[in-house]
Amino acid sequence: MEEVAKKSLNFIEEIVEKDLKEGKNDNRLQTRFPPEPNGYLHIGHAKAICMDFGIAQRYGGICNLRFDDTNPSKEDVEYVDSIQEDIKWLGFEWGNIYYASDYFPQLWDLAVQLIKDGKAYIDEQSAEEIAKQKGTPTTPGTESPYRNRPVEENLALFAKMNTGEIPEGAMVLRAKIDMASPNMHFRDPIMYRIITSHPHHRTGTQWKAYPMYDYAHGQSDYFEGVTHSICTLEFVVHRPLYDWFIDQFADSDYRPRQYEFNRLNITYTVMSKRKMLQLVQEGVVAGWDDPRMPTICGLRRRGYTPEAIRDFIDRIGYTKVDGMIDVSLLEHSIREDLKPKAHRVSALFDPIKLVITNYPEGQKEYMTTDNNPDNEAAGTREMPFGKEIFIERGDFMEDAPKDFFRLTPGGREVRLKSAYIIQCTGCEKDENGQVTTVYCTYDPDTKSGTEGSKRKVKSTINWLDKDGCIEAEVRLYDRLFKVEDPAAYDGDFHDLLNEDSLEIKTALVEKHLEGAQAGDHFQFLKIGYFTVDKDSQDGKLILNRTVSLKDNWAKK
Ligand code: ATP
Ligand code: MG
Repeated sequence: MEEVAKKSLNFIEEIVEKDLKEGKNDNRLQTRFPPEPNGYLHIGHAKAICMDFGIAQRYGGICNLRFDDTNPSKEDVEYVDSIQEDIKWLGFEWGNIYYASDYFPQLWDLAVQLIKDGKAYIDEQSAEEIAKQKGTPTTPGTESPYRNRPVEENLALFAKMNTGEIPEGAMVLRAKIDMASPNMHFRDPIMYRIITSHPHHRTGTQWKAYPMYDYAHGQSDYFEGVTHSICTLEFVVHRPLYDWFIDQFADSDYRPRQYEFNRLNITYTVMSKRKMLQLVQEGVVAGWDDPRMPTICGLRRRGYTPEAIRDFIDRIGYTKVDGMIDVSLLEHSIREDLKPKAHRVSALFDPIKLVITNYPEGQKEYMTTDNNPDNEAAGTREMPFGKEIFIERGDFMEDAPKDFFRLTPGGREVRLKSAYIIQCTGCEKDENGQVTTVYCTYDPDTKSGTEGSKRKVKSTINWLDKDGCIEAEVRLYDRLFKVEDPAAYDGDFHDLLNEDSLEIKTALVEKHLEGAQAGDHFQFLKIGYFTVDKDSQDGKLILNRTVSLKDNWAKK
């Protein structure tokens, strides 16, 4: 409560506070997170999770996890498992786990009751015919010829819908409400349809008739005692129907109430499960956890932390207006989070050899360097240093313009980070004119941390001792799409894929990284944040670029 008081409340927190103050729902607060197990969770779901679990946590309520598993044709236990893993990883705990499929018997009984009350009927028209009769928001729909079927006939057909003798699509159960309602959702919505082509991942082939979302969702909320059923804005128009169904059956004053906030959309990606599944199935990405995916497992593999994701969600907040969030805001959150956490290490993507001609042959020194200058507690480490080292090729230029402050023959002094000041004397090239070795001299009186180290130079470069480095594969991930809003494109979204979304390189990195574990974070100095990938093996280190140090796209 205290933490909430310091910040301004979002509109749902305001509602919850007011309800609790007024003693509504016997002072209970109960929410649920209701994913359909038909795909992996994405960053949009994280926004819903932070709301559903977060608000329960803050106000001493309870949030349950409910799988909305009413459509067996797309659902799978693989998704049920991954959803649980991702919620826990984000740092949340549910009270109970429920499945809408557990309510199939109760939902069935209530539907039978509705038929008996003359408020539901079996329609034998095709989906197309039913759609045609829906009318438009300004013109009333047409009543189905089956609308006034006798109750007994409806009951008999409804039972048949669940025996397997009726093929998929041949009939549906519809609520008999109002074909002229200005709310299209009231025009005799479908309550049950037949699915026989896919067994259900929990109930197998026991059921053939499955309840539709609008019917099942509200009832499930009611069965469980949900007080605040929070979802996204596209459900605003469903809310009257949600209330209507509950009013048909409620036997007490208690009612779950639905509240809606704006969906999260992020630039340069797609978040529909259908499109993500397509990317996975076509092999455009390496799987649901491909580091380019906006999935929670993809972000995790990319190197995102739960703290960064929660911080991002906190920054964007909850409103009643849909919009698009710039992915650079998400990137900002991970940079901020990793800044005090990730060890700074040297990595060279295009190394060239540098020989310090006046450095004693065979001598090794150990240079003390901060693991993280932004976090003293991270301590220091020793980097070996000797006559032969590597530097980044771009830090040397043979014929350099005046404003090039790094290494060039006869040029200015340059500091090797945490080591000495050096000056370039020349270079050696192969038969193609490619520089193979840079020659320098060093000033032994300028070692970092000594009095002589105070001499000012224009630039500091990174290096790796030839005995202090190992090779690593680096996977440079970038945005999956070239345009901000691929979902808005009418054509084939493959046209919009960024062909450069993955570049694989071999780099030299500090030996310090040897033995690093999947998920460990590092900052490659001057380059960006990297995370050890799970594909790494003994002797083969693989690192994913989480994010560059600066927003490279801002310049483009
Ligand atoms: P899709 O349409 O891609 O299948 P969905 O919205 O149907 O996604 P669900 O599994 O039904 O996915 O979603 C579970 C909960 O997460 C719902 O309450 C939904 O409102 C919320 N949610 C889904 N996507 C987003 C999003 N982009 N931003 C915020 N909340 C979301
Ligand atoms: Mg859904």
